[in-house]
Amino acid sequence: MNASTPASGRLSVVGLGPGDAALMTEQVRATIAAASDAFGYFPYIERLQGLGHLQLHASDNREELDRARAALDLAALGRQVLMLSSGDPGVFAMASAVFEVLDVATPEQVQRWATVDIAVQPGITAMLAAAARLGAPLGHDFCCINLSDNLKPAAVIEKRIRLAAQADFAMAFYNPCSTSRPEGFRRALRVLAEECEPGRLICFARNVSRPDETLQVLPLDAVTPEMADMRTVVIVGNSMTRQVGQHVYTPRSYPHA
Ligand code: SAH
Repeated sequence: MNASTPASGRLSVVGLGPGDAALMTEQVRATIAAASDAFGYFPYIERLQGLGHLQLHASDNREELDRARAALDLAALGRQVLMLSSGDPGVFAMASAVFEVLDVATPEQVQRWATVDIAVQPGITAMLAAAARLGAPLGHDFCCINLSDNLKPAAVIEKRIRLAAQADFAMAFYNPCSTSRPEGFRRALRVLAEECEPGRLICFARNVSRPDETLQVLPLDAVTPEMADMRTVVIVGNSMTRQVGQHVYTPRSYPHA
């Protein structure tokens, strides 16, 4: 290697898990220990505070593509760069943003980033952490739907919920609503009310695996739109989902299958 050939760096796109440090994988922990820089949304960067060896690059959650480009640029200089997501980086998170940036790269960027070794490392996603705390609500076929209409039209979200309900999938809703998008969960509830029976079980898991975790299970006709916020993952049971003691589960089969 000579002065004109930069050392090849690495961009590790890692999932920190839902919150509890015990739910972070050993692989991610080791990658953090070996890294030089970390990029991510402010609250995820905060989870690394105290790790003195890292250069921290926090940014707003509206700047995902710029963040991905900046991380690739730094890795191209030979640094060991982390791109942080909560949960799993492939679930409504930064892994796709990195590949989107690569997909539309200019020839100059393609050349600059050619030496960067890119690795995606999984984490425990919110719906799986929530399902485990509740029991086994995702024990049969299920899907997950991002209720944010930042990146897709509301009509697409509504159609997916309706068809998933008709197909009797259990569902996990991410990003149910926020102050800038208060309508998401309200719209989803309207569709569920049209497609599901009033007793359908709806589970709210907020801040799962964190000290202020809350879990709530209600029949559909008792649910109101205010029950979910940005820190909540909502799990909608299928028609068979039921409670046993303190737990919620979905049987693995239909009767007479
Ligand atoms: N990549 C993340 C999801 C990012 S989208 C993952 O795999 O978990 C952000 C949404 O995830 C939030 O609006 C919320 O719906 C959900 N979420 C993330 N962490 C959570 C937690 N600890 N408890 C409940 N929901 C969580």
